Amino acid sequence: MPRSDTPILPADADGMDRAAHILREGGLVALPTETVYGLGADARNDHAVARIFEAKDRPAFNPLIVHVADIASARHLVHWTRVADRLAQAFWPGPLSLVLPLKAGHGLSPLVTADLPTLAIRIPAHAVARALLARFDGPIAAPSANPSGRISPTTVTHVIAGLSGRIDAIIDGGGCTVGLESTIIGLKPQPVLLRPGGVSAETIETALGAPLARPESTDRITAPGQILSHYAPEAPVRLNATHKTAGEVLLGFGPVEADLNLSPGGDLAEAAANLFGHLHRLDATGRPIAVSPIPQTGLGRAINDRLRRAAAPRPT
Ligand code: AMP
Ligand code: MG
Repeated sequence: MPRSDTPILPADADGMDRAAHILREGGLVALPTETVYGLGADARNDHAVARIFEAKDRPAFNPLIVHVADIASARHLVHWTRVADRLAQAFWPGPLSLVLPLKAGHGLSPLVTADLPTLAIRIPAHAVARALLARFDGPIAAPSANPSGRISPTTVTHVIAGLSGRIDAIIDGGGCTVGLESTIIGLKPQPVLLRPGGVSAETIETALGAPLARPESTDRITAPGQILSHYAPEAPVRLNATHKTAGEVLLGFGPVEADLNLSPGGDLAEAAANLFGHLHRLDATGRPIAVSPIPQTGLGRAINDRLRRAAAPRPT
């Protein structure tokens, strides 16, 4: 692990106590979740939440997802619905965020929601994230623990590379098993797919017994999670490449000759778990990155969403 200017805490009882203490004091703690490493702060503390935006250089209009320990805690913050309950029963704890209307007296910093009347909320599945939520005993706002717009972090090393010295602690919880951010479903009250992610749209549709609606233009908030360039390596990215051209490195999928392969056997869950780590490694070569075609089904939709944004023209 590279040298870090931010303390690395072990994921044991002492480490968790220190992390919970830092959160109570208004500090920033990077924590492992099953999706990617999150940058956590007390969601009720304006100053702490403002520091998340500062550390990531994240635009203030981009709202944060709030992590809670249980459904009862979620119901204190948002107007709960039957469909929300059905999705929560099926997928929580897990990589699914629900966007629901905020309740009066929610007590959250308005910076969390970028002043929207709705909140994105989830219960993470990672044991370390859950243990921290239990110890802290409050809502934790946590976007990905990386500089805004760059490749998401799935290891402590990625967090150190992006944010060392800008945050108060990093909990070492190993790698992230899902490797993609949560799927975001808006409920107004019909379920709308706002962002593909760690639970496939097909799986959600099966649980609901009905198709998910596509977002209307009015559902789209102007946020980097939904605008084009995001998750971007330093190097240019070329998609749907059947082979590499001179100077490129190839990120493969399936039975192809590649510099790194997301899943030689063509398994989309394995590819999702490898996506950001492989992009970090190929980016370190300093060469342009070509990427094999990925099927647009199941988790492939979320992988392609991230790759499209990684390949998009960068803001100047
Ligand atoms: P992340 O950047 O992965 O932390 O995810 C945050 C993303 O969640 C934002 O960029 C939005 O796309 C989405 N989001 C968060 N809160 C809301 C909300 N209240 N309404 C709609 N989308 C939201
Ligand atoms: Mg992010």
